[in-house]
Amino acid sequence: MKLSIRVRDLQSSPTIGAGEAVRKLMASGEDVVRFDVGEPDFETPTHIKEAGITAIAKGFTHYTSARGIPELRDALVADQKGMGLDAKSSNIAFYPGSKFGLFSILSLLVDSGDEVLIQDPVWPTYASIIEYLGGTPVRIDSSSDDGSANSLAQSFEERITERTKAVLIDSPCNPTGERVGTEQLEDLLESCGRKGIALVLDRIYSALIYDGLPDSIPNCNIEDGNLIIVSGFSKEFAMTGWRLGYTIASEAFTDLLVNLQDNTATCAPSFVQKAGVAALTGERTWQKAMVDEYRARRDVMIAEMERIRGWQCIVPSGAFYCFPRVSDPDSSAFASALLDKMKVSSVAGVYFGPRGQGHLRLSYTTPRDRIVEGMRRIREFVG
Ligand code: PMP
Repeated sequence: MKLSIRVRDLQSSPTIGAGEAVRKLMASGEDVVRFDVGEPDFETPTHIKEAGITAIAKGFTHYTSARGIPELRDALVADQKGMGLDAKSSNIAFYPGSKFGLFSILSLLVDSGDEVLIQDPVWPTYASIIEYLGGTPVRIDSSSDDGSANSLAQSFEERITERTKAVLIDSPCNPTGERVGTEQLEDLLESCGRKGIALVLDRIYSALIYDGLPDSIPNCNIEDGNLIIVSGFSKEFAMTGWRLGYTIASEAFTDLLVNLQDNTATCAPSFVQKAGVAALTGERTWQKAMVDEYRARRDVMIAEMERIRGWQCIVPSGAFYCFPRVSDPDSSAFASALLDKMKVSSVAGVYFGPRGQGHLRLSYTTPRDRIVEGMRRIREFVG
């Protein structure tokens, strides 16, 4: 069998790979403190589960439109309005997970030889998808170790060339937890507009922002065509396994996305969409409790890290990751040794881009007492 060059070059996901190695260790009876996991440890709330179960029981088990069922689109329109984004139902399409939504967006934008500007460090899947499509990810330094964000629009605009098709921004960012402010996004959108390229904004962690900081959403008309939002239910509603994501874009771009989905995934699972309606329209006190708990865990992790010799970490304002600079310049060797010797799992920072080298991504999707235990083991290891 002769495989395509594209698939031979496709990297496996280092974040998913790290998890598989850990699961093997745990299956052999090891007590691993897990800081590698990129998903909520909270269960999907009962009212959401029940909506999915009821939909199945009532036989809501058939294909839907690629755009999603009307009540889900309407619920998302209302939800986005509450966040300050004026979108119409015709601007929306749903997918089996936002990762597939992102893949679809980039499929519409990237031809062989094209460039997409991304942050560095950032979630490795961005570069994998861009390369899979024959494009080149161009990494822009997006953070500094003292936490001061550069003028993002300026750093990105300087790197836009004839071949640039899009700027792709993750905010709050996986792995740094840094949030790009509204003004920075608006400046970036303005420069993308001037250059005639798309700004793709990944808002998967936008519900997980701490310390009363505002969610940043550019003030714009989605029909102007330059802004494309991708997000989903995985983190905001603790629904990773359900696979439900969405895009918000101009009507013309959405029609193209729908055409692609008609030829690929067809639609997001029908009964999962009903659960999505319950998520968007149901009460949210549970969500506030979840966000408060993440913040408390972040604070525990940061306080514990301050006691580790040679480590430095900016306080992340969102998502559920800390991204400390650690005492070893080789993050990959350090992460392996930490797992091997102390049974603490993490993801090596270098997987998120060259500027991630010397860092570890530590997820605080684990209870506070386990964070304390994991940090104790790391202190013992570092000495
Ligand atoms: N974007 C980012 C930045 C992520 O970290 C993830 C998941 N780790 C996703 C998108 C994908 O989320 P999902 O496919 O579960 O909606």
